[in-house]
Amino acid sequence: MALMGQMMGAPLLISSIIKHAARYYGTTEIVSRRTEGDLHRYTYRDCELRARKLAQTLEALGVKQGERVGTLAWNGYRHLELYYGISGMGAVCHMINPRLFAEQIAYIINHAEDEYVCFDATFLPLVEGVAAHCPKVKGWIMLADRAHMPTDPKVPLLCYEDLLDARDGHYTWPELDENQASSLCYTSGTTGNPKGALYSHRSTVLHAYAAALPDALGCSARDVILPVVPMFHVNAWGLPYAVPLVGAKLVLPGPKLDGASLFDLFEREGVTFSAGVPTVWLGLLQHMQANDLKFSTFRRTVIGGSAVPPAMIRALEALGVEVIHAWGMTEMSPLGTVCKLLARHADLPEEAQHRILETQGRVIFGVDMKIVDGDGRELPWDGKAFGDLLVRGPWIIDRYFRAETPAHDDGWFPTGDVATIDPDGYMQITDRSKDVIKSGGEWISSIDIENVAAAHPAVHMAACISVRHPKWDERPLLVVVKRAGMEVSRDTLLSFFDGKVAKWWIPDDVAFVTEIPLTATGKMQKLKLREQFADYKLPTA
Ligand code: ADP
Repeated sequence: MALMGQMMGAPLLISSIIKHAARYYGTTEIVSRRTEGDLHRYTYRDCELRARKLAQTLEALGVKQGERVGTLAWNGYRHLELYYGISGMGAVCHMINPRLFAEQIAYIINHAEDEYVCFDATFLPLVEGVAAHCPKVKGWIMLADRAHMPTDPKVPLLCYEDLLDARDGHYTWPELDENQASSLCYTSGTTGNPKGALYSHRSTVLHAYAAALPDALGCSARDVILPVVPMFHVNAWGLPYAVPLVGAKLVLPGPKLDGASLFDLFEREGVTFSAGVPTVWLGLLQHMQANDLKFSTFRRTVIGGSAVPPAMIRALEALGVEVIHAWGMTEMSPLGTVCKLLARHADLPEEAQHRILETQGRVIFGVDMKIVDGDGRELPWDGKAFGDLLVRGPWIIDRYFRAETPAHDDGWFPTGDVATIDPDGYMQITDRSKDVIKSGGEWISSIDIENVAAAHPAVHMAACISVRHPKWDERPLLVVVKRAGMEVSRDTLLSFFDGKVAKWWIPDDVAFVTEIPLTATGKMQKLKLREQFADYKLPTA
C-alpha cells in the first residue's frame, strides 16, 4: 500500500476563488462599462454576494448540478457573477460567442441543452431571432433592471435584477467534486459545426494558478487588469479567474472596444495590464497615433489568438508597453505557451531579444508539447524542423462535449497548428495546418509573409493565402488593406520582401481590398478569403 499524504482534501473549486477575493480583497474594485452606457463600480465583496444570490435564483428556477446555463454577454460585472454563480452552484456556465451566425448560436444552445440563457440588452434582437429555434430553453434572462426591460419583447423574458432582488444571499457554496464540469465553450468552427470544450473546476483553478505566474501572464494584486479579450471567447484567457485569485482590480470594457473608448478607460482607471487579439491593438494604436496620445499607467499586454506581427510589438514598445506573445486555444483552456526571455538572454543585443520575443514562447508548467512529422515521429527541437504540434496536460481537452471518442491519440492532442521548437523550447507557429501554402511540395509560412507585410508603413492589415497554380499547385497571394490616406503599389510592396524571406516565398501578386473578413473571435478569416479568391488568376500562372 502506498503511503498517502496527510494534507486536507480541499477540492479545487471555482467558488473558492471568489470566496477568497471577497474575504481577502473585499474592497478591491471591479469597474465595468455597462450596456446602459455608464461606468459601474463595486467590489469583490459585492460580486460574491450577488453571485450567491444568483446561485439561489438558479436553484429556485430548478437548475440542477451539471445542467447548462448559457451566457450571451460582454465583459461586465454581471457576466462575472454568472461565471461564479452558475459554476459555483454546480451548474455549467456556457459562454456563447454572440458574433457567430444566428444558426450557429441556435445549434450551440441546442447541442449544449442550455436550460436558461442570460443575455445583455445588446443581444435582445439576437435572442428574439433564435428563441423559436431553441425550444428546450426554459427561460431567457435579460441582464438588466426593471427600468431597462423592453416593454413589448417578442419572447417572454425574465429580469435579472428582479430575480436577484428576490433573494437574500444566505447561501453556502456547495463542496463539489473538483472534477465536476464547471463551464463550456465552443470553438468557432471555421469548418463544420462548433465543438464544445467542457472544463472542470480542477482544470480551471489549475489553469488560473498557472496563468497568474510571473513568467506566464504575470498578474499581481498591485495590477489594474483590463481583459479586452471577450469573456465569451475561451474564458477571456482565464483572466476572470486569475485576476480575483491574485486580488487585482478588474476593469471590464463592456461593448465599447474601439480605440477611443479603450484609451479612455485605460487612462481613467489606471490600467497597468491588458490582453487581447492583434486586431484590437490595431484599432487602439491607430487612435493613439492619429491623436498623438501616450499611456500614463499601461505597461504590459498579452497578445495572442493569432500571431502578433513584429511591427505591432515595436509600435506598442514605442508607447512604453511590453508585449507578451501567447499561444493557446479553446481546447487548452486556453493557455499553452507564453513568450518571456530567460535570464541568460538579458545581455543579448536588442535585435536578438526581439527575435525571441516574436515567437509564441515556452510552455507554462502544466502543458507539455512536441512536434511530429506526418508519420507521428517526433521532430528535433532545432528551430528549423516544422511539424504538427501536439500537447497534453490537466487543462487540455480529453474529448469534445458529448463525443463518443477521445480527441487525441496516445494522450497527445493535435492542435491543428504547424510549428518549430528551438533548442531552448521556444515554439513558433508557422501556420494553421489548413492555412499552410504548399508550393511545389514545399511549405510556405503564411504568418511569416504577413509579418513582413505588416511592417510596411502603408499596410493596415495583410493576409497571405494560397491560390491554385498550374505548375506549383499553390502559390501565395497577399491580400492587403491599405492604411487610411496611404498609397503603395503592388511592385513596391513585393520588393519590400527582398532579403526578408526566401525568394520563392515572395507572393506572386498583391490584391488590394477595403476590408479583410474577421472571424467571430477577431481573426482574419482566411477560409473566406480563399473562397473569395478561388478563381483568382495569378500573373505567374
Ligand atoms: P477559434 O479561433 O477557432 O475560435 P481558438 O481561439 O481556440 O479558436 O483558436 C486557436 C487557434 O488560434 C490556434 O490553434 C492557433 O492556430 C491560433 N493562435 C492562437 N494564438 C496564436 C498565436 N499567438 N500565434 C499564432 N496563432 C495563434
